[in-house]
Amino acid sequence: MKYLDEYRDDRIAKKVVDEIRRTVTRPWVIMEVCGGQTHSIVKYGIDYLLPPEIELVHGPGCPVCVTPLDMIDRAHAIARRPDVIFCSFGDMLRVPGSEGDLFQVRAAGGNVRIVYSPMDCLKIAQENPEMKVVFFAIGFETTAPANAMAVFQAKALGLRNFSLLVSHVVVPPSMTGILQSPGNRVQGFLGPGHVCAVMGWSEYEPIAARYGTPIVITGFEPVDLLEGILLTVRQLEQGRAEVENQYPRAVSREGNVAARRRIAQVFDIADRSWRGIGIIPKSGYKLAYAFREYDADHIFEVQHIRTREPEICISGQVLRGLKKPVDCPAFGTQCSPQTPLGATMVSAEGACAAYYNYGRHLVSLEAEA
Ligand code: SF4
Repeated sequence: MKYLDEYRDDRIAKKVVDEIRRTVTRPWVIMEVCGGQTHSIVKYGIDYLLPPEIELVHGPGCPVCVTPLDMIDRAHAIARRPDVIFCSFGDMLRVPGSEGDLFQVRAAGGNVRIVYSPMDCLKIAQENPEMKVVFFAIGFETTAPANAMAVFQAKALGLRNFSLLVSHVVVPPSMTGILQSPGNRVQGFLGPGHVCAVMGWSEYEPIAARYGTPIVITGFEPVDLLEGILLTVRQLEQGRAEVENQYPRAVSREGNVAARRRIAQVFDIADRSWRGIGIIPKSGYKLAYAFREYDADHIFEVQHIRTREPEICISGQVLRGLKKPVDCPAFGTQCSPQTPLGATMVSAEGACAAYYNYGRHLVSLEAEA
């Protein structure tokens, strides 16, 4: 298959690894931003193929992981209401809040439904005019266009019983936050390929220039990732800090102009809290004033939400590239995908879950034995 098999070809991968070995002369720390990239790196053992000078650390680009606990609790409180049909993508249903997950809310009588698109909710709203239909709109810039379109369409149809519970985050401010954080170790980024397919890469250019940090927009297959690492190492070795595009088959500098226009029409930039990290200024979206009647935060008053993260969890440090999942004392023991304690174990895209699902907890146990 074109654009897939060749990006999983072990002969091509070996050539790129050899070129990385020839290029690197000293230690570098590179962060892949996306959870999907982390997943591929761990699945294919890309980090094991690299020369010892190169350390990969894992970034905050897993949308389920960075959705704050108080937002999940707010979603559960809305989903428990008898007048609400609460809709979500399936991966949010098993994310634990302070008192169970959405499956448990459903088992207790909540009308919780899995949908495959926010547009499905419009049909549900039309078929259930006596109910309030709420869609849990989480994610990065990749999911924002469809959510924006759903609200835009609801307004065009005059639907009054549909709303979004918005917890959207955007990538560039999180990278700036990482580069500014005390003890930062990141020297180069593999940029988020899918996010840039929507948004383009121009907003990354000031970050590369200001912080002297190369950013290589990178895809998700093994050869993509190795090429992205090679381009990043070349820049680091040559003292350059530019935005490069390893993923031209999906990403252009301007991105998807129609999608960007729709996002800008429906959402405003807002401060957002990231689970494990805290509030990052201007790091997310909220519904624009013109669409406030579709804002679940505006419609439903939910009070007295008090949350507490387990003290043992170091997911905030994992998300900033300061630690690896295997550095956590709970990894693979108290904390697993069946009993997740923190942000990066709750979603399959989280770094801790990726390490666990590909057996890295067994590697650390073997090393201790
Ligand atoms: S293994 Fe669990 S407790 Fe440890 S950092 Fe990851 S999510 Fe947190």
